[in-house]
Amino acid sequence: MRECLFCGIIEGKIKGDIVYRDDSVVAFKDIKPKAPVHILIIPRKHIATLGDVGPGDGPLIAAVFFTAAKLAQEHSIADTGYRVVVNCGANAGQTVFHLHYHLMGGRHMGWPPG
Ligand code: AMP
Ligand code: ZN
Repeated sequence: MRECLFCGIIEGKIKGDIVYRDDSVVAFKDIKPKAPVHILIIPRKHIATLGDVGPGDGPLIAAVFFTAAKLAQEHSIADTGYRVVVNCGANAGQTVFHLHYHLMGGRHMGWPPG
């Protein structure tokens, strides 16, 4: 049995502040938000990192981005702008090894990221 924090949230074994779910993705609030809106969008399928995405995962990844745009509208950050971020591997600071997309907005964000 795989031990994965985000699979646990999907399965309801670990509490998450879930804001959206459908057949392919789940979205929940980041426990340590770095912006006024900070939501994590994850595929239900366990994929460890961006580097593990395969050619058959195209529709799933599209679903993640459709969800990001929809949640940005619902959380009133679509007009002011927002960022969707994937950290992949050690140098990027990935800490949870279930592919997740950070949807962040509600403040100005600098470029490049630190
Ligand atoms: P990353 O550094 O890209 O791997 O991001 C992992 C994110 O997961 C961080 O922003 C954490 O704050 C967040 N996180 C860790 N544990 C939980 C949890 N139980 N519920 C919600 N978010 C979490
Ligand atoms: Zn997982």
